[in-house]
Amino acid sequence: MSYDENNIFAKILREEIPCKKVYENEYALAFHDINPQAKLHILVIPKGKYISFADFSKNASKDEIEGFFKAVGKIAEEQHLVKNGYRILANHGVNAGQEVPHFHVHIFGNQTLGPMISKS
Ligand code: 5GP
Repeated sequence: MSYDENNIFAKILREEIPCKKVYENEYALAFHDINPQAKLHILVIPKGKYISFADFSKNASKDEIEGFFKAVGKIAEEQHLVKNGYRILANHGVNAGQEVPHFHVHIFGNQTLGPMISKS
């Protein structure tokens, strides 16, 4: 499977469609999810063209991986999520219901988050 240049997050990175930006560094861009599943729901995406976590963890450089995950931690700090807690999540592939084929981490916070996964 090759990277789809027309996926929605590629368009956001190219600024062809808008986003509510939260954070940006050399390796990552973060913005509010359009359909939030918690009081705070942020998406963090790498700037490189990676389809999923499997692709990113295998093919991204050490600098890209470090820059990306440092950004996730920094955003949690900046959003004042560390004291009360938060959840990060990445869906890979069909079983996980990944919708957008550009690797992303969800950050959920500002509320009690309930069970880790649905039992159904
Ligand atoms: P996935 O299911 O792939 O892990 O998550 C994709 C996420 O992207 C969903 O939570 C969905 O609401 C969000 N999303 C889809 N299209 C857009 C968009 O155009 N803008 C933003 N900000 N989020 C989007």
